[in-house]
Amino acid sequence: MNHPQRLRVYGHEWAQDLLRTAVLGGRTSHAYLFTGPEQVGKTTLARSLAQALTCAAPEDEGVGACGRCRSCRLAAGEGHPDHHLIEPGGTLKVEAVRDVIREAQLSPVEAPYKVFILCEFDRATAAAANALLKTLEEPSATTRLLLTSSRPAGLLPTIVSRCQVLNLRPVPTATIAAALQDDWGVAPEQAALLAGLSGGRPGWAITAVSRPETWERYRRYLADMESLLQQNGFERMQYAARLAGDAEVETVLQSWLLWWRDVLLVQQNCLNLILHRDHLPTLREVAGRIPSTQVRRFLQALLQTATYLRQTVNAQLALEALLLKAPQMG
Ligand SMILES: [Zn+2]
Repeated sequence: MNHPQRLRVYGHEWAQDLLRTAVLGGRTSHAYLFTGPEQVGKTTLARSLAQALTCAAPEDEGVGACGRCRSCRLAAGEGHPDHHLIEPGGTLKVEAVRDVIREAQLSPVEAPYKVFILCEFDRATAAAANALLKTLEEPSATTRLLLTSSRPAGLLPTIVSRCQVLNLRPVPTATIAAALQDDWGVAPEQAALLAGLSGGRPGWAITAVSRPETWERYRRYLADMESLLQQNGFERMQYAARLAGDAEVETVLQSWLLWWRDVLLVQQNCLNLILHRDHLPTLREVAGRIPSTQVRRFLQALLQTATYLRQTVNAQLALEALLLKAPQMG
């Protein structure tokens, strides 16, 4: 690789192009808001923009950082004195925002800009959001504010309207699978499975690679799915209640989606496309006993529920409705 220190962004080419053009033309906005699902790459893109903004010699690639200058090297190591990454563990309090404002009034240490990345800004209290508004209204020429949010509905409209909004969509599975193979040395079959499970979120896939419990959990999700096929309505309701409280619920649904997709592929005799080759006997059994119309209907319900959960109306209710639709093999 020619530019080992340039932060890598997987996918979101349109956003990279847009930001790079602004960086090279010296026409960046004073505030950006990156929205999109969790771990889709919002903070990575914001960090890449920060790197490009403070790069000594921006280039026409990626988001624009050269990846070689001193500033880029510092940025890659998260040690740039003009970069400030604010990741609230829980709520973002007004004191933290006041620190940002105070710091923003000082001149940059060595770069042309001071860059603040405020992650998950929807977690800001009303006081904190209001405190930032003034800075957004009267931006200093040497300050850039980069906000991220996976729940932009929780942001004040006045915050959103003062930022340039970049809404990041899930990254194509093939892009993630290729990245896992090329940059993380994952074997092709595992890369395809992880990319599929990630639901288009490269951050999830990359974390999963280095987490030994990934596969163990994954096997448990599939085992749960297989037991559900035998369970009655009451048992399914109990399971729905437990699942509603699980932080990994999106991944659980995603793993079921891939599994049922494989059932459908077995029914259509497309064995070369299936992801769970090691589950083939079970897949064949299910494929033989459940009509493909039911499989399709359940796949549809899984997709719908995943969407509902992102807008979170009532997770438990949505999951109960889903599980009642799950095919039965008792
Ligand atoms: Zn540089």
